[in-house]
Amino acid sequence: MFENSQENKTNLSELGEFGLIDHLTKNFKPKLDSTIKAIGDDAAVLDFKNKQSIITTDLLVEGVHFDLAYMPLKHLGYKAVMVNLSDVYAMNGKATQITVSIAVSNRFPVEALEELYAGIQLASKIYNVDVIGGDTTSSTSGLLISITALGIAEKEEIVYRNGAKANDLLVVTGDLGAAYMGLQVLEREKEVFKANPNSQPDLDQYTYLIERQLKPEARKDIPPLLKDLGVLPTSMIDISDGLSSEVIHLCKNSKLGANLYEEKIPLDPAVISVCEEFEIDSTMIALSGGEDYELLFTIAQEDYDKIKGNPHLTVIGHMTQESEGMHLVTRANQKLPLIARGWNSMENKKD
Ligand code: ADP
Ligand code: MG
Repeated sequence: MFENSQENKTNLSELGEFGLIDHLTKNFKPKLDSTIKAIGDDAAVLDFKNKQSIITTDLLVEGVHFDLAYMPLKHLGYKAVMVNLSDVYAMNGKATQITVSIAVSNRFPVEALEELYAGIQLASKIYNVDVIGGDTTSSTSGLLISITALGIAEKEEIVYRNGAKANDLLVVTGDLGAAYMGLQVLEREKEVFKANPNSQPDLDQYTYLIERQLKPEARKDIPPLLKDLGVLPTSMIDISDGLSSEVIHLCKNSKLGANLYEEKIPLDPAVISVCEEFEIDSTMIALSGGEDYELLFTIAQEDYDKIKGNPHLTVIGHMTQESEGMHLVTRANQKLPLIARGWNSMENKKD
């Protein structure tokens, strides 16, 4: 979303690779004590003292993971950082640094990359992470962005996918399905716009959904919240692909089954009404939609009182023995096998 909106366009070749890197990163000043050397040498140098370090990478490809027809570049930069930080929080860690690598075709002017980096900078400020390096290269088609995030945690605080026990409670943060429905609204508007470029979409009622799609927030608040509550999850994962696939990951890694209760799945009222409008089942969207970047975790039953009533946390089910299988218990009390992606409408869904 920049091609028609930019008045000044500076060709990438005017700056050259080194000029471009300098230009884009000149405002990145390290803030953290653990960052010994950031951008500007052959490699960054960090000092985490005696903490364990957490490292995660994601690659986003134009046309596969994002569509610049409706994704502003600033939002893309912000979201690319969120996708990675979410994985650090899912280990119950604190995110500290990121590297940013881009491959870019010459159809992008310098100003477009400035927008991308404005989003990256905003995210790094709000989430208190240092940008410590990256790589810049050309691409023959489109934009690729790969971010690596680093984080820290005490050894005993790190939470893996494989620690859940039978009878543990399954807990989810926030609400689900909004990001996917935001994408549906944006795609519908794109089609309307193609047919009639003068149409003015009225998207007011979809604000929450569109924000969840374009400007997701990773749950930085959850590891410290759990610590304050005195709860150490037994297993945890972030919800990038939809609830059912993440429940299945926890089950497989922990060698357990699970019962997930349809009536407990937290949905925002905006998701319920847009699902009615699109005539799709909101439970199916929560299960298979993806990109919510909420956290899913398990806790021991005796910790229930500590999280009870917390507005950020909802108990949606419990773990069972592996032999009992993985099920969704519907509002009609039917037990359906949980499947990762059993819906034709999701066939084109990206990973
Ligand atoms: P090298 O030749 O060692 O790969 P570069 O010239 O690519 O070094 O990078 C110089 C410095 O700029 C390094 O610190 C590198 O991490 C950083 N850097 C390069 N590209 C980016 C980018 N897209 N975003 C942030 N930092 C970058
Ligand atoms: Mg390089």
